[in-house]
Amino acid sequence: MVKAVFLDRDGVINRLNIGSYVTSWDKFEFLKGAKQAIARLSNSEYLIFIITNQSAINRGLLTPEGLEVIHNNMLFEIEEASGKVEKIYHCPHRPDEKCKCRKPETGLFEQVSKDYDIDFPNSWFVGDFESDREVAEKVGLKFILAKDDDGLAKAVERILESS
Ligand SMILES: [Mg+2]
Ligand SMILES: [Zn+2]
Repeated sequence: MVKAVFLDRDGVINRLNIGSYVTSWDKFEFLKGAKQAIARLSNSEYLIFIITNQSAINRGLLTPEGLEVIHNNMLFEIEEASGKVEKIYHCPHRPDEKCKCRKPETGLFEQVSKDYDIDFPNSWFVGDFESDREVAEKVGLKFILAKDDDGLAKAVERILESS
């Protein structure tokens, strides 16, 4: 079994602009300290996953290939800062599609479970919404609400202190 830290993307790694979607790389803005925080966490026993709702895809604002370009750029910059993300899981659906993977549904975590043997009770989810807490409770993860630019850095601090 492996311990993991699951990170929400928008509002935790990059700046969330309510009402607008990251539909291209130039709209993606890393939060201050986020890359360094991921690098620090990468130096620990935890595997890092990104779990993200990207309804822009099924809203017709972003293609799956476009999302891949954004994520490849993001991962390149994270790796340049010595961070390592194991894998990214995303939900492309709109809320009205009532899928099983859009958080706070648990489908993305079930996908992770198929790919990895995760020690959920000793793993963490870092999100910026209370609905992220809801999904963490459903799947049995410890939760940290990330707030402000240094939210992820503070979360990583707490995770590393408690392990
Ligand atoms: Mg978020
Ligand atoms: Zn979905």
